[in-house]
Amino acid sequence: MSISDNLQSIREKIPSSVTLVAVSKTVDEQRLREALAAGQQVFGENYVQEAKSKWTALKTEFKDIALHLIGHLQSNKADDAVALFDRIDTLDRVSLASALAKAMTKQQRRVPCLIEVNIGDEPQKGGCAVAELPALIDFARGLSIEIQGLMCIPPADKDPKPYFEKLVELAKQYKLKTISMGMSGDFEAAIACGSTEVRVGSAIFGAREPKA
Ligand SMILES: *Cc1c(COP(=O)(O)O)cnc(C)c1O
Repeated sequence: MSISDNLQSIREKIPSSVTLVAVSKTVDEQRLREALAAGQQVFGENYVQEAKSKWTALKTEFKDIALHLIGHLQSNKADDAVALFDRIDTLDRVSLASALAKAMTKQQRRVPCLIEVNIGDEPQKGGCAVAELPALIDFARGLSIEIQGLMCIPPADKDPKPYFEKLVELAKQYKLKTISMGMSGDFEAAIACGSTEVRVGSAIFGAREPKA
């Protein structure tokens, strides 16, 4: 199956109200161009350096692209992230909010954010603890960062449904519109629970090489 075929078959399973984010970590430029030629406009990348080298030129060529950062962001890369990305989906702590606000002010460029929630309360994972969510929302807004919604990655090897439902409930509670959840293996379940945005990588681009 080609990238274009994969995109078409996934789009058929997604209501038009749900945004398909094509996750293109480790995907090279030629394959990105195949997705672009198939009309895909929203992409997610995990690593700032990789995204910078792949997308800087492509973004001037394809003006309507929206690039989302969906991987963990170190505060010392906030400047690069604000310059390149159209949304940052992994705001998860006060110190990062401060670094992002500083970068946005310096560049006079406001980049909206999602807050990543550690929905399974897993110690090894990034994401804001559920209990700290209201404080982080208030803090970020106090720095004029626009919080558009929430994102999560449920624990691996568990039924994701209760975690999806929990994120939807939190989004409702804090009156946030965008709910980014669901990947190649579970995007249909996520949509059934109320996802507004799914992040699909391997089902579009094929299996990834394990990261060295
Ligand atoms: C890699 C990744 C995805 C896509 O995963 P697939 O299983 O390949 O669809 C989605 N979200 C995040 C945060 C990722 O790191």
